[in-house]
Amino acid sequence: MIPALEALERLREGNQRFATDGPTRRKTMSRRRRLELAQGQEPFAIILGCSDSRVPAEIIFDQGLGDLFVIRVAGNIVAPSQVASIEFAAERFDTRLVVVLGHSRCGAILATLDDLERRSGERSKNLLSIVGRIRPVVEPLLQGALAADHDALVREAVRANIRASADQLRHGSEILEQLIDRQGLLIVGAEYSLETGLVDFFHPATVAAPSAGA
Ligand SMILES: [Zn+2]
Repeated sequence: MIPALEALERLREGNQRFATDGPTRRKTMSRRRRLELAQGQEPFAIILGCSDSRVPAEIIFDQGLGDLFVIRVAGNIVAPSQVASIEFAAERFDTRLVVVLGHSRCGAILATLDDLERRSGERSKNLLSIVGRIRPVVEPLLQGALAADHDALVREAVRANIRASADQLRHGSEILEQLIDRQGLLIVGAEYSLETGLVDFFHPATVAAPSAGA
């Protein structure tokens, strides 16, 4: 079992390699590794990410087969099937880290804002099941000063949606709550930048700051 903060460090290091075109861990996709994994998996992190083709978790964190348990859905929203997938992996594989991974210029966020600003036509009922989960999170932002600055509004809406999904996971599942209390499960929000290739983790423990007087 890999503790949450160690898992977080692995992701940070992998993302650094990816963003800087550093040496990759290709060996984790070898035939030998594949055969080893056929006997069982022990992913060190669970990622709830967006389906966007530009944000494949294994690539942006430079990980190989068997490293990450990934759930992808447009807008990295939390619905019952996502919660169940995360509960399953956290319990079955003793995985201690869950990352909710959003990204800049997310199409699901833009669609939700279009909806709220009444720029869109009829939406399918299925699409509304995604937009409807994001709407309550971004709607309050339209009441504030950000409403006048569309780019800033999108940036803040992306981050608010990531925080909301992480909160829902922290408080929306008895199983996950117990794993947090008893096993040190950590649920962290993170934002990937399409422009820089870097992931910004929201967790305070990843910020190197002296504790004295802080
Ligand atoms: Zn997206």
